[in-house]
Amino acid sequence: MPELPEVETVVRGLRKTILHHTIAKVIVDAPQKSIVVSESFKNKAFSDILKNKTIQQINRRGKNILLELSGDMTLWVHLKMTGHFYYKNKSEPKEKHDLVIFQFKKPNSEFSLKFNDYRRFGRLRLFYSDEIWEQKGLRELGPEPLEISSDDFITLCKSKNRMIKPALLDQTLIVGIGNIYADEALYASKIHPKRILSSLSNKKLTELHGHIQRILSLAIENMGSSVDTYTGVNGESGKFQTYLKAYGNEGKPCERCSRKIVREKIGSRSAHYCPKCQKI
Ligand SMILES: [Zn+2]
Repeated sequence: MPELPEVETVVRGLRKTILHHTIAKVIVDAPQKSIVVSESFKNKAFSDILKNKTIQQINRRGKNILLELSGDMTLWVHLKMTGHFYYKNKSEPKEKHDLVIFQFKKPNSEFSLKFNDYRRFGRLRLFYSDEIWEQKGLRELGPEPLEISSDDFITLCKSKNRMIKPALLDQTLIVGIGNIYADEALYASKIHPKRILSSLSNKKLTELHGHIQRILSLAIENMGSSVDTYTGVNGESGKFQTYLKAYGNEGKPCERCSRKIVREKIGSRSAHYCPKCQKI
């Protein structure tokens, strides 16, 4: 699943391509569950509502993409497992898993933006902007890891008596961190993924906060990690996967101590860590 650096890269790609563009037409070939329209639109169709709307702002909150449109509405997109946007010449044929195609007015009428999602867990939701933050999935989100101060991060962690790895993935605690960046931050900080958050010292939590911010920033600079199907809006892959030291490195020697990196199921997800450097 795309995590903060990948979603941030998509947002930046969308800003470069469709910001201030006006939608001419929306073609939908998606299962019903992929698209949600607020009841406030009184059963109007998704494609009809979006026609003639201009994209005024494009922002990210955690792993969510928020496109603010004219008419005081927001298109809220979550990519989930395999959802992605492509900006392409309009003449390119429709591909099998293109679920929504946005076409634009002049001077951008040669291009279209496609939302493609072969596993179909991604969601496009349309709400009026004044109701968007009341929605489940947005209202309960925790702080942004690149914005939270070290002191606030320590306070947040000290209040939780739970294992650190699943906690870091919990979007209500802190947003944007998924399996890749949680494993990398814990490896860099030499913290075992099963450690209880409240048992960590302030010094260790300060270190972890620093590594989370450093790793996420470096990953954004490298346009994210393409470990599965992820690509940016222009079709370009991320480059951060070459920097990964724990995630996906099962059986390879640890860079620090040469012990083999192990993979273990913790919570419902696989954790990758060095059993020697990251002692419980
Ligand atoms: Zn090691």
